[in-house]
Parts: sequence; C-alpha cells; structure tokens
Amino acid sequence: MKEIFLKDYIEPNYLIPNVELYINILEKEAVVTSMLTIVKNCSGDTPLVLDGKELKLHSVLLDGKEIFDFDYSDDKLTIKNLPNKAVLTTTVSIDPYNNKSMEGFYKSGNILCTQNEAEGFRRVTFFSDRPDVMSKYTITVEGDKKVFPKLLSNGNLVESTPIGENRLRNKWEDPFAKPCYLVAIVAGDLESITDSFTTKSGRVIDLEIYTDPGQSNKAYHAMESLKKSMKWDEDTFGLEYDLDLYMVVAVDSFNAGAMENKGLNIFNSAYVLADPKTATDSDFEGVEGVIAHEYFHNWTGNRVTCRDWFQLTLKEGLTVFRDQEFSSDKTDRTVKRISDVSILRSHQYPEDKGPNSHPIKPESYFTIDNFYTATVYEKGAEVIRMIFTLLGKEKFRAGMDLYFKRHTGEAVTTEDFVSAMEDASGFDLTQFKRWYSQAGTPVISVDSSYNNGEFTLKVKQEIPKTSYNCPREPLFFPFPIGLYDKDGRDLTPEAGKNLIISKEYEEFTFKTENRVIPSLAQGFSAPIEVRYNYSTDELITLLTADKDKFNKFDAARRLTMISIDTIIGDIRTNRECSIDKRIIESYKKLLTDPTLEKRYLATLLYIPEVKDIALTMEEYDFKLANRARNIYLKQLATELKSNLFRLFEDNLAIDAVAERSIKNSALSILSFLGDDIAEIAQKQFALAENMTDYMAAFMSLQKCSDTVRIEANKSFKEKWKDNFLVMNKWFITQAIRDDETVLDDIKKLSLDELFDNTNPNRIRSLFGAFAGRNSAHFHSEDGQGYKFIADKIIDIDSYNSHVSSSLASAFQPYKYLGEKQAKLMKEQLIRISQKEGISTGLNEIILKTLKARD
Ligand SMILES: [Zn+2]
Repeated sequence: MKEIFLKDYIEPNYLIPNVELYINILEKEAVVTSMLTIVKNCSGDTPLVLDGKELKLHSVLLDGKEIFDFDYSDDKLTIKNLPNKAVLTTTVSIDPYNNKSMEGFYKSGNILCTQNEAEGFRRVTFFSDRPDVMSKYTITVEGDKKVFPKLLSNGNLVESTPIGENRLRNKWEDPFAKPCYLVAIVAGDLESITDSFTTKSGRVIDLEIYTDPGQSNKAYHAMESLKKSMKWDEDTFGLEYDLDLYMVVAVDSFNAGAMENKGLNIFNSAYVLADPKTATDSDFEGVEGVIAHEYFHNWTGNRVTCRDWFQLTLKEGLTVFRDQEFSSDKTDRTVKRISDVSILRSHQYPEDKGPNSHPIKPESYFTIDNFYTATVYEKGAEVIRMIFTLLGKEKFRAGMDLYFKRHTGEAVTTEDFVSAMEDASGFDLTQFKRWYSQAGTPVISVDSSYNNGEFTLKVKQEIPKTSYNCPREPLFFPFPIGLYDKDGRDLTPEAGKNLIISKEYEEFTFKTENRVIPSLAQGFSAPIEVRYNYSTDELITLLTADKDKFNKFDAARRLTMISIDTIIGDIRTNRECSIDKRIIESYKKLLTDPTLEKRYLATLLYIPEVKDIALTMEEYDFKLANRARNIYLKQLATELKSNLFRLFEDNLAIDAVAERSIKNSALSILSFLGDDIAEIAQKQFALAENMTDYMAAFMSLQKCSDTVRIEANKSFKEKWKDNFLVMNKWFITQAIRDDETVLDDIKKLSLDELFDNTNPNRIRSLFGAFAGRNSAHFHSEDGQGYKFIADKIIDIDSYNSHVSSSLASAFQPYKYLGEKQAKLMKEQLIRISQKEGISTGLNEIILKTLKARD
C-alpha cells in the first residue's frame, strides 16, 4: 500500500488538451482507441507516465508511427524521450461484460455504462487519470444497433451513422474542457422521456431521461425536479446551463447514488424512478434532492473542478449545501434542516469518533475511494453553511460570483474558494479555515450563572483528540442564542443573535430580571456538540416556547435522551423504569396543539436509533441501549395511546404528505405495543394506495406476532417481486427487525431467488442494513453477527472493493466496545486482514480499525 500526500502535489508533467476516443463495442469485448494530444509541461527529459488498469494493449503509435520503446507494468504506461508536442495513439481491449468492480466501463443489467470518478477512467484507456488534466473530448461509440440502439456520451451528438445493416456509430463532442473522471459512455436499449427548458437568456435546452424499457413513465418526477433545479440555480446563483442537451440515465447496478458526468448523468435507478405506488414520500424527496445535486455539479464540480482529490469537499461540500438549500426552498425548511442534522449526527459524528476520523480536507490517503464520506460531504456542507451565515446571503452570493469569475474552466483548491469569499466580502476567514484541516466534533460546554441582574454564559470549546493526527486549535463559528424566562417569554437581546465563538474560553453577559434559560447555537449553527446541564423543566419550557424551531426539536431530542438515559440507569440498578410524568404531559399538549405544522410535529415525536443511544455511552453497549429504547418507546406508546390513536385517525381522511407523515409517525410509536396495532396496520397494509402508507404499515407489522408478520412478508413479495426497487425495501425491513432470530432470516434471505450478491443496491439492502442499522443484533453476544458480515466482506471484496470497504465501516465502534465484544470483533478484523489479495481500500479501513484499540 502506498500512502499519497497532499504536500507532494506537483503540477502534471504533460498536459492533454485534446482527446479523440473511439469505442467499438463487440460481442465479447470493447476495443478502445484513443488519440491524445500531449503537450510537455515540464523541463528536462521527464518520461510520460499514463495510468492504465486491466487494459489489454494492442498498439502504441507516436505521431502515427508504431513504437515499441515503452513499458507497461504496475498499472502504468511509461514512454521516454517524447517531443514537446505529440499525438499518442493507443489501442486496447477491455471487457465490460465481466467487469464487476463497477468502475470504468461495465455492464449493469442490459446496459453498458461508465463510472469514472474517482479513478475509473484508467480502466477505459491509458490516461493521466487526475482531475487537473483537463481536455476537450470527441467520443465516438459504435455498437450493434439491435442490442445497443442508444449510444450516448458527453456533450452534443454531432454525427450518427449506420454502419452496414447491423451497426451504428455515434459521434459526440463536448466543447468544454473537463477532467477524465467526468467522461461518460452509455450503450443500451433504453426508453426515454423528453422535455425542454428555456434558460434565462432564451436558449432552449433539450432534456432526456433514459430508463430500462417499460420504466420511463416513472421518470416524470425526476424530469420536473430537473427543471426546478435549473430554474433555481438561475434564480439563486445566476447560473445557467451551458450545453444544448442534458441527459440522465438510470441504471440498476451502481456503487453510489449518482454521477454528475458532464451533460450525461448516470444514476442509481433508486434516484430517478418514482411514482406514488412504488415510491414513498421520502423517496420522492430523495429523487428531487439527488437530481438537483448532480445538476448543480455542472458548475460546482464540472466547470470549476478540483485540482486533486484532496480537494473533494470543494465540489461535494459546496454542492451538498446547494442541494440542501434547494430542497429547503421547495419543501419545509425546518423539517429539512432537522433531517440533514440527524444524518450528520448519526453518520458523521460516529465517523469523527472512529478509526477513519479525518478533516473535511484530509492530508493523505491510501485510496481516495475511502474518503467519499459523511465528513467530506455532510460536514463539508456545514462548513459552507457557516460561511453563508457569517457573510450573510448577499455577500455569500458575491463570493460565489467572484469564484466563478476567477476560476471557470480551472481545477482549483479549497483555498481558492475561501479567498474568493474573503475578497468579495472583506470578511477575514483566516481562523475559520481551521475547519478544513482539523478533525473531530468540537464539544462546546456551556455553564451559566446569575448574579445581580446579570446572566452570564461561560463557554468552553474543546477539540477532541481523534485517530487523525492534526492540531487542535480553537475554531471560529457562529453561535446565535436565545433567552427565555421560566414562563417561556422571549427575552433574547439583539446581541445574542450574532454571537461568534473563536476562543477556548469565552464569557457573555446579559442583563435580565431573573435567571433565564438559554437556547444555544440556534438553527444548529455549527457542526458541534453543545453540552448544557438543562433541567427537565427548562427543556420542557424550550419545547413549548422556543421560537427557534430547530432548538424546539432539539429540546424534544434531549428530553428523549434523558428519559432513555434514566432507564439505562434503572436497568443497571434493577429499579423499575418509568418516564417522568412532566415529559408525558408536555407531549400530550404538543399532540393537541393545532398551531404546529404536521410534518414538523412528526419530527418532535423523535425516535432515536439504537446507535444514537450507544454513542452517548462511555463503553458502547448496544444490547442495553436497545433494551432501554424499547422500554421507553413502549411506555411512551402506552401513556400516549389514546392521543396517538386519535392523531392517527384524524389524519386518515386526507391523502397528502403532511397527513401521511404525522399519521405514520403515530403508528410507528404505537407499533411498540405489538399486536394491539395489528388490526389497523393490517387494514392500512391491505388498502394503501401509496408506498408511504404501505411501508409504514409493513414496518409496524414486523413488530407483531410471527404469524401476522410472516403473512405480511409473503404478501409483500407476491405483490412486488417484479419490482427491483420496491423489493429492496422488503429486504431492508427484514434485515433491521429487532429479534434474536434476525440473522437466521438474513441467511435465508441471502439465498432468495431475488437476492443478487453482485448488485450493490441488494447488498446494501440486506447486509448493509443489518450491519449499519441493526446494531443490537449485529453486535450480538455470540459474535455471529460479526462473523457473518466478515464472510460477506471477504467474498464481496474479491470483485467490488467499494462495497466491501463501505460494509467494513460497520466495525467503526471497535474502540468503544466492552472487552468481550471487542475480542469477538477483533477475531473477525484479523481474519479479514489476513485474507490474501484483500483490496487496498478494505485493507486501509481494517488496519485503521485495528489500530484504534492498540
Ligand atoms: Zn456530488
């Protein structure tokens, strides 16, 4: 394994301004001829080194003449003694039909497609596979027109020529220079829907969404989302689409969510196909968000790209921020914010505490594939959001304008982005930049005192030590606060709204008539953990009165965690467990408060995941966390039974997102009463006309007695067996069931005729869901959960290292387990590490995990 360092970056020795690529798809292979215009970018006689992986080399030509003086070994093609400018032509064969890595050119269902980010293009042809080598591409694709009637690539179709009776040749030209990771090629029998969008300057853009035959009627929501995204980016950032054609292709086998290839996005079909019968409300929002995300990359990522992969957050953090803002404008801003923060807390915070902790801009890696993380994406977006908060909307926009003015067509760094923000706003971000290089979730401990009419907040900032070696200097971030008296009156002074934290210790004093309750870091102003010793009464006041709707939600979350923590204590000391009556009473009030918007009220019925609870323990005890969680939810359901039933029934009549959301949240808590809800859940399961209600009922039935549950599982499969995406939900729901026998079920399910262990969506739905979301049983005391997942990781790693590495992140809690569990996990970690031929990506994760407990 070779570690790569940011500090070792040097400019490319050779530039490749022009590429002509010819891909001839044959029955058993594809022949790729590439003509690269090579221009020397260094002095001396430095050889040209191109990347190439699993390429069968046929010939190398220099300015049209075949040469033999080259070396192809260790995935590198080295050619010495090149003139300052030359045309290098190579011809290779590749095998897309048997390429299970899902990088480069591969087969997904009956479609051939590419995935070149981060380093897949080297599996297509020899190239300088790094983002700062930007080229103009002409790509010709040829294939059998019966098998591949559609032959697509980036840019505009400039020629389409039949070759003889059976073959077709399409030539595509992209006028904009781009890095090779944005190259896309798709060949297949595809159906499409088409539309158009007129830009603010009056250009008409053709829009095409491609799917498998028979599926295109489910692409209309994606099309609407695309048009909304195009309009939003013009209105919000003044950014107009720059080609004449925008295509999206949906494929079933895809390692990630989607890929922003210039003018030709390739999507996991889960993020394109949606109709109410087969997709839930949250699937619909997922489609809208991912379509927007990939579209926004056209500017943040494609036209201004990354200099090297250490800069990944430059495009991802910024684009996630943009898609979050878009979705906030299109749905409910607070509900969206709560959902984004919940993802950050349950994915990124554990990452920060775990073996792969890293800053949003890491300084070294073994393989960049392991850095497509919640830290780079979600925390990266929080960092952009803080700049937005500090500068304000208008200056942030001025910063974006300057960034595009300076850097369009370039491959740049995060410093370039921050400089544009500083220069356009006059705001000094010197200290703020530490967010890019420091890992760990800052812990902000706040104390308060009240004396002689003065309320003082003492704020201590602590940057925790993580597995990543970096400085731990105080960070700079917005920290707006509110103040409430015990009756819930808002006493927030103007100064409280603009507080900034920049030192290790700080004090803020406010004149108040009585002791007040602080509402801290309002709107979740920074990716930090705020600690304040709230009393239950104080939290109930905030839950009732806080005008900051995020912190009102957070009061509900804190009360829930306090209740569960109390139950954990009760279990440990063999005491009877019960939820504080004051909390129950405040929930009763909330549930009957007509002023609360329904989707927002649903977020207040907060149900933490088992791992969210374990994360608060010094030594993670998933079993205990699960037990306490079940006791809490069962009691809550019992105490609120009549209120929740009423809420459920009151919202049956209207079939809309808000009503479904509150009704199904009520059902979800009631399901902890087991068979008591069997009747209503069965009724909803039988009559549901949309997937949201159907899934909510199906999940609730998992908590009922075996006969009820097994009947539901059967009926589900019978109804949906031909729908690939819906069946993913069937696998997930069974994989996360809270029961001792779940692993046996999963073993049976992995032999089901609908399970396919080469399809990443299926792997994630069964093994990924179990390892990542069924903490109580993955961490079972007999170690069988670990062993089972280790077996799967070893198997999958032999053909898809992306999926094996991401599955291995389930071992992240290793450092925090009790002795007995840690020993069981260690056995499996060692077994994986000793496997011969283990991929670099997986090896990196496993070694880091093992090291975390040395
Ligand atoms: Zn992205």
